[in-house]
Amino acid sequence: MSSVLVVAEHLQGNVRDVTYELISAARTLGDTVTVAVIGTDPASLDVNRAGVDEIVHVRVEQAEFENDVYQHALEALLAERQPATVLLGFTVNSMGYAGAVAAKLGLGFGSDVFAVARDGDAIVATRAFYGSKAHAELEFPAGKAVLLLLRPTIWPPAAGAGSATVTELALEPVASRARHEEFREAAKSDVDITTADFLLSIGRGIGEQENIAMFEELAEKLGATLAVSRPIVDAGWMPNARQVGQSGKTVKPKVYLAFGISGAVQHLAGMKTSETIIAVNNDPEAAIFDVAHYGAVADLFDVAEELAKIV
Ligand SMILES: Cc1cc2nc3c(=O)[nH]c(=O)nc-3n(C[C@H](O)[C@H](O)[C@H](O)COP(=O)(O)OP(=O)(O)OC[C@H]3O[C@@H](n4cnc5c(N)ncnc54)[C@H](O)[C@@H]3O)c2cc1C
Repeated sequence: MSSVLVVAEHLQGNVRDVTYELISAARTLGDTVTVAVIGTDPASLDVNRAGVDEIVHVRVEQAEFENDVYQHALEALLAERQPATVLLGFTVNSMGYAGAVAAKLGLGFGSDVFAVARDGDAIVATRAFYGSKAHAELEFPAGKAVLLLLRPTIWPPAAGAGSATVTELALEPVASRARHEEFREAAKSDVDITTADFLLSIGRGIGEQENIAMFEELAEKLGATLAVSRPIVDAGWMPNARQVGQSGKTVKPKVYLAFGISGAVQHLAGMKTSETIIAVNNDPEAAIFDVAHYGAVADLFDVAEELAKIV
């Protein structure tokens, strides 16, 4: 009999959708599905969906997620329940402690998993590499527990009321090295690059922060919205609301005009399906030209000046 343990995620008193998605995935993998809820008042968080056999309440002093607390709780759950498979969300929370638990206990481990299936007694998880340029199947033979982080929004959220039994797992209090202080609203951005039809996107090739102004002006003249690659955000020159790519926004404008962007896979992951891509780069070998429909091997400042003259 194979058992699956799901660790619920919650935030400010609400169960996060990814938890219900994990339950859906768990149902396809195991004969029994247990959901662990770690928090100050686990009973207030409803995870009793159809297909859940058992809910384990793990009462802790910390209301919100803290790395050390979850690590401690998961280790205790693993020791007591010995599940064959553990499912967590591929989220900022899980990334903080799941790898550590897997390494410490010698578990099979896969992150950013977007498909998972049983093959006999083995588990086969599919994950992406290199900004989704390559997919790989990871096969975990039976006999060793496996911990997988599943990508959110892939599985449908489990629906329908369940009839799970509820148990408690007593946990020694844990001293957490980091403490949750407060939630702060992210600054509302005045721009939504994901809905713009025309993006003028600048990268490290612009060289200096003072050069941003000329591209802001050019974008305005062209009727484009300014977007950026990650180094511009990392340097603190523009807010991350304008970042295109794997760790930024995915965009699909009618026109994507890129100045001084090399075309790293993480950048391409966010823009390669744009309708028309135009790239300006002084390196003819730049990878951006592999996806560009039109390209100019030229100094970006020369092209920007010429463009500014004709509009
Ligand atoms: C986990 C992870 C997530 C990431 N997420 C993202 C992401 O979301 N978005 C993102 O953009 N990056 C992301 N990155 C970073 C990514 O790997 C690249 O480092 C980044 O995209 C490079 O940005 P760039 O093209 O602006 O700079 P560079 O790679 O330095 O390219 C600058 C380009 O400008 C050209 N150039 C220089 N001077 C001129 C000139 N005068 N005229 C014309 N061309 C010129 C150069 O030839 C070069 O091709 C991520 C990386 C990691 C590891």
